[in-house]
Amino acid sequence: MNLPSLLLQVCCAPDATVAYERLREDYDVTFWWYNPNIHPLAEYEKRLASLIELARIWSVPLIIEKYDPERFFRSVRGLENEPEGGKRCTLCFEMHLTFARERSEKWGFEFVTTTLTTSPHKDADLINSLGKKIFENSKVQFLPENFKKKDGFLRSVELSKKFKLYRQNYCGCIFSLIPRYRR
Ligand code: SF4
Repeated sequence: MNLPSLLLQVCCAPDATVAYERLREDYDVTFWWYNPNIHPLAEYEKRLASLIELARIWSVPLIIEKYDPERFFRSVRGLENEPEGGKRCTLCFEMHLTFARERSEKWGFEFVTTTLTTSPHKDADLINSLGKKIFENSKVQFLPENFKKKDGFLRSVELSKKFKLYRQNYCGCIFSLIPRYRR
């Protein structure tokens, strides 16, 4: 039986573990790596290497976009001092989902969703409402999910340990890193 195709926007390998585990029965999943927000480049490469390893372990197709930090900085200009979870993050989610629409339409996927809802620090309702809005009138359907539900986050920690995946200790952009340096 052919499963419907789904492009999974992956923010990091640990968050992708539980998402993939829950989606794979019903969808033909492709990992999609597009993270211009991650800073610095060494961190970006570490997170990407971890996803390449996960894709290898589970034999999941993986599409990698080129690193384009300027796009992220343009998208959030003026909101550099916003706290994590504030307006800058909303624009960051919009940037990911808008490009996900462009790519998934071009490549002919049937569904799109994102691993962003695995993190306990991210508002799944906000992400899902942005996804629905951005995919309005698209032939690709946005699939609202909340992977942190039913102990999803704990499961992602468990699977990350099992596969020895790198787990970051900050969200990703330089603005989420600075407060950690200060502390
Ligand atoms: S804190 Fe995370 S979600 Fe918010 S703008 Fe930075 S990378 Fe994006």
